[in-house]
Amino acid sequence: MASIAFIGLGNMGGPMALNLLRAGHTLHVFDLSASAVQTLVDAGAHAAASAAAAVAAADDAVISMLPASPHVKALYLGENGVLANARPGALLIDSSTIASHVAVEVAQAAQAKGLRMIDAPVSGGTAGAAAGTLTFIVGGDAADLEAARPLLEAMGKNIFHAGAAGAGQTAKICNNMLLGILMAGTAEALALGVANGLDPKVLSDIMSKSSGRNWALEVYNPWPGVMENAPASRGYSGGFGSDLMLKDLGLAQEAALHARAATPLGAAARNLYQLHSQNGQGGLDFSSIVQLMSAKAKPAQG
Ligand code: NAD
Repeated sequence: MASIAFIGLGNMGGPMALNLLRAGHTLHVFDLSASAVQTLVDAGAHAAASAAAAVAAADDAVISMLPASPHVKALYLGENGVLANARPGALLIDSSTIASHVAVEVAQAAQAKGLRMIDAPVSGGTAGAAAGTLTFIVGGDAADLEAARPLLEAMGKNIFHAGAAGAGQTAKICNNMLLGILMAGTAEALALGVANGLDPKVLSDIMSKSSGRNWALEVYNPWPGVMENAPASRGYSGGFGSDLMLKDLGLAQEAALHARAATPLGAAARNLYQLHSQNGQGGLDFSSIVQLMSAKAKPAQG
């Protein structure tokens, strides 16, 4: 069993860390939120006073699950960061969704210190994190992925090798651009149906068995009350924040600019999420974009 530092215990990192504990690994955990740390300590993890302390205590691996590029850069490259404190031979795994060029920069800095690192962003949402069924999309050396595999398998079901360092992030951003487009499109179709007198549940059932079917509709329905376990039915709390989706759609636009690729629908989705965020809804789950399309899509009470 491995001794692991886990940094970032939010909506995703918390349940991922719990699954590593359940698999019998020893965890040294750190988060800026004391309550997030406490949940893991209650389940048997060791609380560390800082990220540096968690990393210094872990023999085998460091896993990070932070919001965005600046957080990851600071955690790894900062004065008292991961690279300065990691044990020789420890495998570094960043599962945050960040810019591909930042993943490459951090991996190269790790390599320069003789440390192995992979980018391993995930797909599958908070439900996938809790169930241990995430998809890991890995960039880095194949041998390092193999070394990480037993840990990734404790948290996920599908593990893909996208290519060299940074490739995991590129593939993840392509996926999330499509997800943002699908969620906005699904929300628009439901709002159109409701505006024309349809029941959103009946319309969802119809589209789920028709050619408009997609993950946002079938697994993560944005209309309140249609799907009991979706964030829409709990006031858009938990889940995947709209501001995190906005970040990912921005990363997709950066990647498009870099490669001179045309992404008109991705650009439209980014603008919709920007408007939603400006309306003060950035903290709600990303399925709340439906509120931009219909005033009727308000969370159910109670
Ligand atoms: P979150 O905001 O719920 O959690 C982030 C956690 O990081 C918070 O608990 C915060 O306190 C902590 N944190 C921030 N800076 C820190 C620091 N310097 N040191 C220690 N802890 C720090 O976010 P999340 O939903 O868990 O997402 C994490 C990452 O996973 C993001 O990159 C996101 O894009 C990606 N992601 C999220 C989902 C989802 O459904 N929520 C799905 C796939 C990927």
